[in-house]
Amino acid sequence: MAVRFKKSLREIKILDHTQGFNEKRLNFEFRFDPLTRRRARIMSLKFKVPVPPDIEKTVEKSLEYPCPFCEANVENMTPKFFPPFIPEGRIKFEEAVVFPNFMPYGQNNAVTVFSKDHFVGLAHFSEETLANGFLAAQSFFKRVYKKNIKNKYFSINWNYMPPSGASLIHPHLHLMADRDPSDYHDLILKRGKRFWKKFKVNYWNDLIKEEKRLEQRFLGETGNICWLLYFAPKGMMFDVMGVFVNELSLLEIPPAGFQEFARGLQKIFLYLAKNNLMSFNLTIFSGLKEKDYFWTHARLTPRFVIPPMNTSDINFTGLLHDESLSIIKPEDVCQEMKAFF
Ligand SMILES: [Zn+2]
Repeated sequence: MAVRFKKSLREIKILDHTQGFNEKRLNFEFRFDPLTRRRARIMSLKFKVPVPPDIEKTVEKSLEYPCPFCEANVENMTPKFFPPFIPEGRIKFEEAVVFPNFMPYGQNNAVTVFSKDHFVGLAHFSEETLANGFLAAQSFFKRVYKKNIKNKYFSINWNYMPPSGASLIHPHLHLMADRDPSDYHDLILKRGKRFWKKFKVNYWNDLIKEEKRLEQRFLGETGNICWLLYFAPKGMMFDVMGVFVNELSLLEIPPAGFQEFARGLQKIFLYLAKNNLMSFNLTIFSGLKEKDYFWTHARLTPRFVIPPMNTSDINFTGLLHDESLSIIKPEDVCQEMKAFF
């Protein structure tokens, strides 16, 4: 095995005010991402969001303004692609619709609305709705790639509900398809290539084999997708990784692959709902055609606000130091989430 789970355990001594100022030992870990070597800090607080978020109130608030993604508005309140790129203006796949992003932050950015439903709770996403959204996204990527094969860096991104950065609660994806990858996408592509050259093995292949053997963070499989808790999370709670085994580019995933991916997401969504987590960020990072060193994979991290002050789960460590701080060990989460697989 080439993958290495490197960590460094640290201990601090304090005089504990809750125990008559007696000596207390506190622990945390430095972990090093096995691919990027970036450092993550992990505490072991056994934290749970204590009460379910008031979703009804959020949905109610969202209906005070017209939603551009609802069926009655989508034709008039969303832009169309410039012809001749997509002569029909928008891409439609079953209930899913793809149109250009009105907020310009990439050369070929688009939005996919999953369905006509304004709000879909985490426990209620059907396999069909999810898979159709991803297939609609793939259809957009194929068109962008056909226009110019330099547009080869694809990612499917999802902010679900306001704590994750979603300004609209109507479920939708953000599609990125550019000639320049994001900074992080670029990093993992380069490190994947370096790993391949150095160890003569694909990193994600090696990671899955090792996680299966260790049985500490491996969740299970849904068809061709392997699911695990990532050793060095980026989120404050945990990161789930879903790997499309042997799949290089998002352009090449067969419809069955997205259905299998959707089945895995449904299981994770149920876990989130059961644990009062109403929001998440998800990215599917695509590899490149014919480049065996990178397998397409997803990373999902729950987002939440901390009661009673609705404190953000993002703070200076991640934002300004570029170093994640997590409050739970992925191994502890895995024990609970495994039951859903
Ligand atoms: Zn809507």
